Amino acid sequence: LFDTSAAEMRLTRPRNIELDDVLGLPIRVLDHGFVRLIDYLGDDNAIVQAARVSYGAGTKKAQEDYDLIRYLLRHGHTSPFEQVEVKFHLKMPLFVARQLVRTRTAMLNEESARYSLVGEDQYLPGEDRIRRQSKDNKQGSGDLIEPAAARDMIRNSIEQAQHQARAVYLDLVEEDDLARELARITLPLSTYTQFYWKINLHNLFRVLSQRLHPHAQWEIRQYAEAMAHVAHILAPRAYGAFVDYQRDAATLSRTERAVLHEVLAGADLERTARGFGLRGRELREFLAKVA
Ligand SMILES: Cc1cc2nc3c(=O)[nH]c(=O)nc-3n(C[C@H](O)[C@H](O)[C@H](O)COP(=O)(O)OP(=O)(O)OC[C@H]3O[C@@H](n4cnc5c(N)ncnc54)[C@H](O)[C@@H]3O)c2cc1C
Repeated sequence: LFDTSAAEMRLTRPRNIELDDVLGLPIRVLDHGFVRLIDYLGDDNAIVQAARVSYGAGTKKAQEDYDLIRYLLRHGHTSPFEQVEVKFHLKMPLFVARQLVRTRTAMLNEESARYSLVGEDQYLPGEDRIRRQSKDNKQGSGDLIEPAAARDMIRNSIEQAQHQARAVYLDLVEEDDLARELARITLPLSTYTQFYWKINLHNLFRVLSQRLHPHAQWEIRQYAEAMAHVAHILAPRAYGAFVDYQRDAATLSRTERAVLHEVLAGADLERTARGFGLRGRELREFLAKVA
């Protein structure tokens, strides 16, 4: 069926030697977790190739690949980035997985705690994670709990609770013959789960924007860092554009632009912002953004 005379159309399968070399090797995350790259499809060239199919051959002469990728990302031409995909095997505590699975644009298959016995690994936060409830971020953690002995006690309490829950779980399964689908309800959110997770680069960049952000929980940020490392190797130009236009970028509202317009003409920043009606949290966020 194949027209072997069409030699000019023949392709060599794109390979990323650097990634092939580490395919399947875990990047260790937290105390028992990992991010493993299982497979990938495409790279920077696939993005350029897809864009040129849609924009025509003329673009090829006019722009370097690098500029084209940056142009596409800057202007929200997202579909060429969807031509690149990554598949990870992730092992993470349930509370982290519960955050990650909010990303509806990824495909996933998780191990079944109805079918299999749940593994014994549970996340025990390191000493530097034993922190007070943050005062300024209602979702986050703040200062370290002092003294160090108090942090040790807290870690011991967490560990004891985990052991106890595990013991009850095993008793229910092994001694009482309770179905695993019910026995699992005794297990805490620190229990590790595993799943395969496949996502395209456009959607991965959104996850990374959200989960590398300092407001994201520290634990999920560790997974985001590992995935970002892989994305960087897979498509370095696209990743660079992502860092520039998404990860480290800031957007301005119409009002904020108007304030800055006045400020560039010599007006006082905060007074002008207040004059334009910015106040409270929005004002603080704006000042931080400008700073
Ligand atoms: C720091 C942080 C704190 C958070 N806190 C909470 C919390 O307290 N409670 C909570 O419930 N969630 C919370 N979230 C989850 C958050 O609200 C999002 O649900 C999650 O980050 C997924 O983002 P997303 O919808 O952009 O991504 P995806 O689900 O991957 O969707 C990508 C994009 O596709 C489109 N899309 C996908 N599915 C649909 C659909 N069905 N209908 C319309 N458009 C769709 C949307 O444009 C969406 O932006 C938090 C997230 C972060 C980063």
